[in-house]
Amino acid sequence: MGRMPYRRRRVLVTGGAGFLGSHLCERLLDAGADVLCVDNFFTGGRDNIVHLLDHPHFELMRHDVTFPLFVEVDEIYNLACPASPVHYQHDPVQTTKTSVHGAINMLGLAKRLGARIFQASTSEVYGDPEIHPQPETYRGNVNPIGPRACYDEGKRCAETLFFDYHRQHGVNIRVARIFNTYGPRMHPGDGRVVSNFIVQALKGEPITIYGEGTQTRSFCYVDDLIDGFLKLMAAPDEIIGPMNLGNPDEFTIRQLAETVIELTGSGSRLVFKPLPADDPMQRQPDITFASSALKWQPTIALRDGLTKTIPYFEDLLAGSRMA
Ligand code: NAD
Ligand code: UDP
Ligand code: UDP
Repeated sequence: MGRMPYRRRRVLVTGGAGFLGSHLCERLLDAGADVLCVDNFFTGGRDNIVHLLDHPHFELMRHDVTFPLFVEVDEIYNLACPASPVHYQHDPVQTTKTSVHGAINMLGLAKRLGARIFQASTSEVYGDPEIHPQPETYRGNVNPIGPRACYDEGKRCAETLFFDYHRQHGVNIRVARIFNTYGPRMHPGDGRVVSNFIVQALKGEPITIYGEGTQTRSFCYVDDLIDGFLKLMAAPDEIIGPMNLGNPDEFTIRQLAETVIELTGSGSRLVFKPLPADDPMQRQPDITFASSALKWQPTIALRDGLTKTIPYFEDLLAGSRMA
């Protein structure tokens, strides 16, 4: 009478060659899982995971999640989707397809396998919110026909599909609503404030503050966020979300600029540019649910997270990967 041979947990990460996905793949490998990274390299790339390619328990597959995928895994993290406006507005139809057809295919896969499946949703499901901070019960204020809709409505529909596969087919789901996150391997050219300011400071160029810089944001360091993913995935079955994950510490954009200048030792000066249309004055997650249900809260302060992020951009600028 033999025992079942020990088998590693097999985990699929879609969008695994992206910013968040590459960190998640690393953490799963560290935890002893077999990781299958699926990515079409639209915004992610081999550079983000090149250090994992020789790992005996890491496998990379080039595939677009809008097409069916037949693999055998125990758990699925569905992260595939461009995340910043310049990327998701490049081909808006493909963005909606990625969220909606991608969710259907990954949920179909989860249903066939009886696998637990995690969805990377977003604070953007709240649209231009009328209440601050936003609890998970807030239903949002999204313009269904605007230029951001391909992302916002795509992610909203993906949430709908997750909850319907859960109710209709008993699929074991987890849905996280992710707020602004930063760290090594974020995209240098996507126009987000953290990457813009660090690159400008390192190049000695003026730091571009939109408006007066009095608007606030809350930034979560990537390691804290990935802790939240792993905890939500491991939580008891009744905790399925949707759950806000982010760092509630608020800073003005001007404070962010001053901190980046100080930490890089840059001589850059501040320049003020017009505030883009519909730029929210404030965005802050309400993480009451995550902190009570998962005992999770971010531990890495903005200053410490920036200190860990700056060397990544220094290396990029020193190498040939960025003009
Ligand atoms: P990213 O662009 O670095 O990663 C997304 C990855 O998905 C990329 O590697 C890309 O090539 C891949 N991809 C895109 N379309 C695909 C498709 N059709 N098939 C297969 N792969 C595809 O972005 P990120 O910041 O790592 O975001 C990961 C997830 O988290 C996304 O779903 C995003 O919406 C969500 N999210 C991120 C943030 C944040 O602050 N970074 C905030 C909210 C939500
Ligand atoms: N699917 C997949 N891999 C699987 C099982 C399903 O990609 O292992 C896809 C399948 O192609 C289908 C989608 O997931 O388009 C939804 O599957 P489901 O079983 O819910 O629907 P159906 O096959 O009945 O349309
Ligand atoms: N911002 C800025 N300078 C930049 C890029 C962004 O002042 O070079 C501001 C932007 O107007 C917004 C904030 O920083 O108020 C955060 O912008 P981002 O695009 O990073 O994220 P989001 O608006 O989605 O939170």
